[in-house]
Amino acid sequence: MKSTVENVLSFDVEHWHSATLVRDAVTDPEDHIEDSVEIVLDLLADRDVRATFFVVGEVARTHPDLVARIAAEGHEIGSHGDTHRPLFELTPEEFAAELARSTAAIRDATGTTPVGFRAPNFSVTPRTHWAVEALDATQYRYDSSVFPVRTPMYGVSGAPIRPYPLDPNAPFEERETDGSLVELPLAVFHPRLRLPVAGGFYARLLPTRLLHHGIRSLNARGLPATLYFHPWEFNPSVETAAVPPHKRLVSFTGLSRLREKLATLIESFAFTTAGSVARQHSDRKRDPAATSTPWGNG
Ligand SMILES: [Zn+2]
Repeated sequence: MKSTVENVLSFDVEHWHSATLVRDAVTDPEDHIEDSVEIVLDLLADRDVRATFFVVGEVARTHPDLVARIAAEGHEIGSHGDTHRPLFELTPEEFAAELARSTAAIRDATGTTPVGFRAPNFSVTPRTHWAVEALDATQYRYDSSVFPVRTPMYGVSGAPIRPYPLDPNAPFEERETDGSLVELPLAVFHPRLRLPVAGGFYARLLPTRLLHHGIRSLNARGLPATLYFHPWEFNPSVETAAVPPHKRLVSFTGLSRLREKLATLIESFAFTTAGSVARQHSDRKRDPAATSTPWGNG
């Protein structure tokens, strides 16, 4: 039987060649964004599941109809930055400008102002803690960029593994705050070992049994698992042969079985949008009688 805990299903909508390890290795790539998103939309529609799509601003400007269609199918649209540059490469001012541009692009495409943000490469870490202050100064209501285990490319060891109120003065600690931002950290399980089961690379690499075990153990503690994928990961026509083998491991291993794995996850666990889960956690620390919310729809 499915646990009643709702997990977060999310997709980062960027070009397949935007991945950090790949972007310099591919010249003249084919654009597969439309057919990739379509594969994912069909998979979700068949199973009647809503998800969050964190869209790069540039994609919303060049493919506004595609982004409008995702929203029209009942999914939430969040921001994944404007150019997919990790925050490590941006100044606080450049980040604020990226955020504003991506917000405008999404609003133009969908008519709705996004309230959720995911940094490219999970690049909200102690080095870029200023990003939380920048988000806090906007209409954004949640962030889903903290990867609560240190990896060679990103991650924050010791950050909470459950949704928590984001305090701009201490963004990686669980504290009571008056602020309105919620963090949805990416899924790791086991309080000490912190094994990532967050989707993407991890879902491609890990056996289904371990993925399910990780999500089940979070849910057993009443905690949602926040998972991310990329639409291109589900598209067999994405041609990855041009990428040098040593870079292919992280970016492309296990693609062929991912569709099956996601289908099995959806059968086994309850999923919804990031906005919906963030709102549940935000409501918990607010006056339950309050009627007006700053969340917009979904
Ligand atoms: Zn990304």
